[in-house]
Amino acid sequence: MKTMSISENITKLTKQLSEDVTLVAVSKTKPVSDLMEAYKAGQRIFGENKIQEMASKWEEMPKDVQWHMIGHVQTNKVKYMAPFVSLIHAVDSFKLLKEINKQAKKNDRVIDCLLQIKIAEEDSKFGMDAADAGVLLASEELKSLQNIKIKGLMGMATFTENEKQLRSEFQKLKKCFNNLMNTYELSIISLGMSSDYIIAISEGSTMIRVGSAIFGERV
Ligand SMILES: *Cc1c(COP(=O)(O)O)cnc(C)c1O
Repeated sequence: MKTMSISENITKLTKQLSEDVTLVAVSKTKPVSDLMEAYKAGQRIFGENKIQEMASKWEEMPKDVQWHMIGHVQTNKVKYMAPFVSLIHAVDSFKLLKEINKQAKKNDRVIDCLLQIKIAEEDSKFGMDAADAGVLLASEELKSLQNIKIKGLMGMATFTENEKQLRSEFQKLKKCFNNLMNTYELSIISLGMSSDYIIAISEGSTMIRVGSAIFGERV
């Protein structure tokens, strides 16, 4: 069977998605030539999980690309992406939000963020409990951060092919979103990767993060 090219994968995915689902092309570890092939097929949103790698690709790629940081963020590296990052998916502490706000202010920008919520049954190091996210969103301190905007929630499910478990974990995020959305004007649910984005969309995802189904397996 002929394997499909990057541009064919982009075209196929884009056709498959309704307009209210945003595709983030996860290009971590891939060379700029691969990203350019996706760009030429019309893709403008790219996701990376390492700040330095994202910054060097930002320098090389056309300036209308929107860069999403999808990985865990170390506070001391926020400054390297603050001039250009368009959405930070995995914010999981107030301390990190404060640093993003500080660096955004230095760059005279407002940076959009998502709160990462713990949904996986397996023990994951990163992410907040739904209750803590509610407390953070309701806090007075948050209002003082004028250079960040929390746009929604992000989740990482357990690495499993068990559809029942995936659905139950995805539903946890959707429920948390429903509880918070009206009070805080949240609009984005970042959920779903190459192997499970169809299930994620059926459970309410509005933003999928797809890597290997576009660029091929990573080594
Ligand atoms: C790598 C990565 C993805 C994409 O994974 P694929 O299985 O290649 O689609 C999505 N989200 C996060 C947070 C990732 O680190």
